[in-house]
Amino acid sequence: MAKILEAKYLFVEGSYLKDKAVLFDKKIIAINSKKNLLKISPNAKVTNFSGNSVIYPGFINPHTHLEFSANSATLKYGSFIEWLYSVFENRDTLVKELTKEKLNSAISQMLKSGVTTFGAISSFGADLEACKNAPQRVVYFNEVIGSSPAMVDALFNDFKMRLKESQDIADDKFYPAVAIHSPYSVHPILLREVIKIVKEQNLMLTAHFLESKAEREWLEEAKGDFKELFENFFKTSSPVNSIEGFLSAFKEQKTLFTHCTQAKKEEIEQINSSNSSVIHCPRSNRLLNCGKLDINSVKNLLLGTDGLSSNYSLSILDELKSALIMHTEIEPKELALNLINAVTTNASKALDIKVGKIEKEYFADFAIFTLPDDLANTSDGSIALQSIINCNQADAIFIDGERVNF
Ligand SMILES: [Zn+2]
Repeated sequence: MAKILEAKYLFVEGSYLKDKAVLFDKKIIAINSKKNLLKISPNAKVTNFSGNSVIYPGFINPHTHLEFSANSATLKYGSFIEWLYSVFENRDTLVKELTKEKLNSAISQMLKSGVTTFGAISSFGADLEACKNAPQRVVYFNEVIGSSPAMVDALFNDFKMRLKESQDIADDKFYPAVAIHSPYSVHPILLREVIKIVKEQNLMLTAHFLESKAEREWLEEAKGDFKELFENFFKTSSPVNSIEGFLSAFKEQKTLFTHCTQAKKEEIEQINSSNSSVIHCPRSNRLLNCGKLDINSVKNLLLGTDGLSSNYSLSILDELKSALIMHTEIEPKELALNLINAVTTNASKALDIKVGKIEKEYFADFAIFTLPDDLANTSDGSIALQSIINCNQADAIFIDGERVNF
């Protein structure tokens, strides 16, 4: 049966419409006044969210690592290289400590914060079942990693197996996709072959890119903190890719690049011109002392929490608050509206799924929040700003047109 949701504000196409309602079943049918929607569908069940409520399209967190959900204070924060060493040291233990409960609690944290679609970067497939059973829509990024030529074949086969396993259970709530770990960790042959698969099968693609100063130094000059690490762990003293070489492999391939904190303007320009997006993870970047993304230079900005491996919560509301406070160079109301767009409209452009917008034929995925005061006669920027600073949990969530308990 069709349903109608009504609230004070409806976030449509980057602005807050007043006194409008949305009619939907599994997908959105129309946006209009309640009166007009009832003419289209007289028997629709109407729910009115009273007070100063806002109906947003369900938020999108395109970048998390659920397989590291057992971490709270095991991994070392404060320096990227120390963190990376601590990952090498504790990875096996953290994966062993990963339980169904921890995975579900991470998924539930996202849901409570209004996230109805998330992107899970999966290194081992240990999160497959939890993602398949999640209440949200999931883009399941099977990650490929491996810089040693001797290991390329084995790693490529393992990747293809995991991809196939995820493709066997694909549906309109579970989207198999591909993640390339980073320019320093993926051999060019592996990179080429994986992107070939992405193109042939029209899959969504993501990659970490220029997260730390150490990464940039290593890729450009084969020196810095990565040198010792690569010599010790991988018996090599030269990087497998250059920055330009890595980027050129993604030419004309729509990609979600994560971090880019150490990218130069011209590299961001290249990302912009290939219709790609940048996922900004401000808390992870701060905790690993990686610097701050120049968000003004990014054409399609998204916002992600990263995993509990480099963050203290997976709440997208916490991430929005941090981003708002961190980017002091941008006027707060303007920034707030940009950030709300980052978790909705922009993410919608980046993913090939009809989510992130309240628009006809899009999935009926909604997150409803209540503002503490009447914001009549204020700007869209003010409503966005008040939403970010005042909301700590969604009041109601709908996915596929059904109300979800959380
Ligand atoms: Zn990541």
